[in-house]
Amino acid sequence: MRGFGMHSINDLGWIEKDRPACGPLDAIIRPTIIAPCSSDTHVGHGGSGPKTDLILGHEAVGIVDEVGAGVTRFKVGDLVAVPCVTPNWLSRGVQNYRSFSHDRGMFGSFKFLGEKDGVMAEYFHVNQADPNLAHIPEGVAPEAALMTVDMMSTGFHGAELAEIEIGEKVVVIGIGPVGLMAIAGAALSGASQIFAVGTRPKAAEVALAYGASQIISYKDGPLDAQVLEATGGKGVHKVVVAGGGTQTLAEAVRMTRPNGIVSNVNFLDISDQITLAALDWGLGMADKDIRGSFCPGGGKRIQRLLNMIEYGRIDPTKMISHRFHGFDAIPEAFKLMDTKAPDLIKPIVYLD
Ligand code: NDP
Ligand code: ZN
Repeated sequence: MRGFGMHSINDLGWIEKDRPACGPLDAIIRPTIIAPCSSDTHVGHGGSGPKTDLILGHEAVGIVDEVGAGVTRFKVGDLVAVPCVTPNWLSRGVQNYRSFSHDRGMFGSFKFLGEKDGVMAEYFHVNQADPNLAHIPEGVAPEAALMTVDMMSTGFHGAELAEIEIGEKVVVIGIGPVGLMAIAGAALSGASQIFAVGTRPKAAEVALAYGASQIISYKDGPLDAQVLEATGGKGVHKVVVAGGGTQTLAEAVRMTRPNGIVSNVNFLDISDQITLAALDWGLGMADKDIRGSFCPGGGKRIQRLLNMIEYGRIDPTKMISHRFHGFDAIPEAFKLMDTKAPDLIKPIVYLD
């Protein structure tokens, strides 16, 4: 079968592989719509270390093509959403209270790209289909369902991790698709004033539609100074970081009030160093939590996000800026994600 991926760092193209084998608890999926993610481009450029002959992609909906003998909840022909994080639910790692992302060590639950080929292929493998897949309800458009598997799950997680309470003031750094879903998550959590940071005009428009109160540009000077000025010197209760570089984390800490939380879902590069002036963190005593986390996975999480769409709490398709058709369009969609055109938010590719 054919897939699109990396031969090595910065050398992307088509890769020929055997169709993956299905274990007794697993499923083989034929993707019908895929979306490239910023994390695929980071990995393709070596941001998580060297990798070779790896099919990229971790956002897909599709049709179940094969199931193992032990699978009971899914059958061939079912239309499913596939979380980008598919933990091994039999491992000790998932018994930790906070995150299911690290089933056998750091990021262990991120199987696509982490330990096997991704979803930009004619077929791909899903471990433990019963706990990891989610049926797409009839009332949810498949392209809307596609937005749950990473963008909604990660963006909402940014808001969840920040423990946003009703009435709090929040900054969301980044108005790419992850930041947009963090804005929507903050609004659903009851934030009063939401500052959104970014410059792409189309994304800014969508940020306001999802609940941002105003847009701030990182090109207009340090973000912390802008936020402090806009809040009478007090800063905000919570910051979700979904864009920027390592300096952005320091800016986030500076704009956060004591007892606040900085919640990072941004992908930092393997070569990055994080530096923070002690004073910015209250000489270590400011009661400002700095947290960083990974997209929550598993079928139950995705089912809940699908509920949010089905019952009209959110329309994630506002983020879809480009729709491509056909398997051969994958490289073009990927390139668009990589180069971040000004009108880009999220490209998707219909494969059939
Ligand atoms: P995008 O590249 O689409 O968006 C990034 C945003 O950050 C843009 O709005 C951009 O502004 C803004 N930005 C760029 N530079 C700065 C800066 N110096 N200061 C402040 N803001 C800045 O990314 P995505 O939304 O697709 O993804 C966001 C991040 O989340 C990525 O790093 C991605 O890899 C990561 N990710 C993490 C996951 C997890 O599980 N933790 C899962 C999925 C993604 P502008 O509008 O000007 O372009
Ligand atoms: Zn991703």
